Amino acid sequence: MQNPAEILSHLRNSFNSGLTKTLSFRETQLKNLIRLYDENTTILLEALHDDLNKSTQESMVCEIDYLKNDALNMLYNLSDWAKPNYVDKELINIMDTAKLVPEPYGVVLIIGAWNYPLQLTLSPLTAAIASGNCAIVKPSEVAPATAKVIAELLPKYLDSNCYKIFLGQPFETQKLLEQRFDYIFFTGSTRIGTIVAQAAAKYLTPITLELGGKSPCYLDSTVDIEIAAARILWGKCVNAGQTCIAPDYLLCSEEVEESFIQAFKKMQEKQYGSDIKASPDYPRIINNNHFNRIIKLLEGQNIALGGSHDANNRFIEPTICTKVDPRSPIMSEEIFGPILPIIRVNNASEAINFINEREKPLALYVFSNDGEIVDLFEKQTSSGGICVNDTIMHFACDALPFGGVGNSGLGAYHGKFSFDTFSHQKPILEKSIDKFHEMFQDSRYAPYSERKIKTLSFLTRKRKLPIPKKYFVQIILVILGFFIGYFMLLVY
Ligand code: NAD
Repeated sequence: MQNPAEILSHLRNSFNSGLTKTLSFRETQLKNLIRLYDENTTILLEALHDDLNKSTQESMVCEIDYLKNDALNMLYNLSDWAKPNYVDKELINIMDTAKLVPEPYGVVLIIGAWNYPLQLTLSPLTAAIASGNCAIVKPSEVAPATAKVIAELLPKYLDSNCYKIFLGQPFETQKLLEQRFDYIFFTGSTRIGTIVAQAAAKYLTPITLELGGKSPCYLDSTVDIEIAAARILWGKCVNAGQTCIAPDYLLCSEEVEESFIQAFKKMQEKQYGSDIKASPDYPRIINNNHFNRIIKLLEGQNIALGGSHDANNRFIEPTICTKVDPRSPIMSEEIFGPILPIIRVNNASEAINFINEREKPLALYVFSNDGEIVDLFEKQTSSGGICVNDTIMHFACDALPFGGVGNSGLGAYHGKFSFDTFSHQKPILEKSIDKFHEMFQDSRYAPYSERKIKTLSFLTRKRKLPIPKKYFVQIILVILGFFIGYFMLLVY
């Protein structure tokens, strides 16, 4: 086993040298990452195919191209995001400089999951690099081909004194977690997330937990059922349902259920052909344990569509279960496979109650063209995120933070939020020290008096601006323009 303490000490020395804090170093590492993706696309595609039978399209869109764009985004914005952010001040500090300076935490630990084994491991690393940290990266042992490729390729492209790959099973990961890191970024199940949080608590290490759970999907009759079915099918079958934000179960009325099942069947044939097992675009379940776990969830269920499976190549057909008992195992744990239970509800309020009686989900999907219904879900439920009239696509919008709430996670990332996640926003107040500035500080010193209380109360009072702050500059410019115009009229 690699020695976690030795690796950490090595990385700490590198961090303390200040190398990773320079923008030029960070930019070089990001460019190297992009080169890694460009020069090794075939190797990466093969590893993903070995682990999950991922098609080239899914591997390119969800993993390789995703990571390349992620690194490009960091590269294009790095100098801007790394700048100090000057903040508003009260009158008492009006002559001083108040700013937030993003600084790297130090040596961070990144623990990846197996379902998107490249993306979920290297996207946090990209952000850790951009923010100026050193990192230990632990890919999931459950996707061994991808873990091996990561371990082989990364040292060839990134500075090995600053970024290390750590391979191992849960036992080795626990040894790693005994060390004192400056930040831990974990992607995985809620159960292991709890273990990570406990390990982090020992040193009060800040953490991000990107977890899972059951993401509900509500569908009503106001939308085009075929389009909805195409989008729900896609969300459920990308990576064969092994996606943290796959729609886990469907909530709809009895009438909608009937037309949905027909539409789902039609869309499945359209997307994967009449024999989905023969489709090169349909992935397989990661290993026998997960295959057996998913098949066991079908025990005692009423299968309305699909249901066939083949243990030899871990194939499970997209399957719909109806008349599902909400207390059955299929509704108690995250399915993480291509099975969609349908729970009948009479209306949106019933669906909302059903959702609110359970743990807060990572994603919530609402298919409705009724604005009031959408509004109800947005206001009366709590989830990591909401996507209306589609599945998964909110993940692709990196101006929106991605993360859970409650049992589905802690913290968020993507785009600028990733940079911020791996940066401590250090508040700095810079004051001038001379006789002139000191004149304005007198009121806070003893001996205290009524006059000093009044002065301090005036200087610290919160004031509402007559116009919203965001229009302030525009209004000043308009006023200035008006005066310049008036002045020119007078002159000429
Ligand atoms: P997991 O929790 O089993 O494993 C995640 C990581 O933890 C792996 O690297 C593994 O090596 C390590 N690990 C496993 N057991 C451990 C232990 N006892 N002690 C310490 N470390 C241990 O999760 P998984 O099976 O890899 O991924 C599936 C789960 O992850 C699902 O719940 C899914 O919803 C969730 N997930 C969440 C996101 C997200 O972005 N929120 C993304 C992908 C997956």
